[in-house]
Amino acid sequence: MSDEVAKRGRKPLILDKAEFQRTVTDLETEKGFSNRSTLWKAVEETAWAKSLLPRALTAQVAMMKAEEMQILINTPKGKRGRSKGEGPVVGGGRKKKTFSLPMLESGVPVEERAGLEKTLQKAANGSLKARIKLNCLNCTNWQKKEVSLCETRSCPLWDVRPYKNVKVVKETIEIDGEEFIETKIVEKVTGEFVGCQNVSDGNGGLV
Ligand code: SF4
Repeated sequence: MSDEVAKRGRKPLILDKAEFQRTVTDLETEKGFSNRSTLWKAVEETAWAKSLLPRALTAQVAMMKAEEMQILINTPKGKRGRSKGEGPVVGGGRKKKTFSLPMLESGVPVEERAGLEKTLQKAANGSLKARIKLNCLNCTNWQKKEVSLCETRSCPLWDVRPYKNVKVVKETIEIDGEEFIETKIVEKVTGEFVGCQNVSDGNGGLV
């Protein structure tokens, strides 16, 4: 009897080693188990375990008592985790994170919602790209061009922001007879002007 059991004043469970051994051996011979936890569960279900006094033998106690009483067991110990070559755990893996559509919509001005319907739905379904798009649009008061022209390179989203389908074009322009370099941003496909970045005098000075 352990000190803890004695301290709590519980009557110890007395097991007959021969009976215990016979129960285990019979079960292993009749059924065969792939691991010991199923063996102890089967021991717990036997009439012998249920009839013991002052209380029935549980699977957990059977496991501890077997070790204490050096019961011979042929059933192999179970392995932790997955074995090599075993398929994925059913229902395992990382769960896709989804968001509440009404919650996302509430952060978008009513007049912008129709145009962002698909993006909102994708964001609710867990799309990171859609969440970034919403975040950048929110940051620029829902102005696509502003996202495209964003110069906040220190922002962690800068490199992955949407509407980046633009290129920087440098052109020489004349102002009051003087030549300046205009750096502007145009859309890659159409060449459409998106915004002016700066106008310089060609020596590094901005106009
Ligand atoms: S990348 Fe630019 S637009 Fe997007 S969140 Fe950052 S600062 Fe705002």
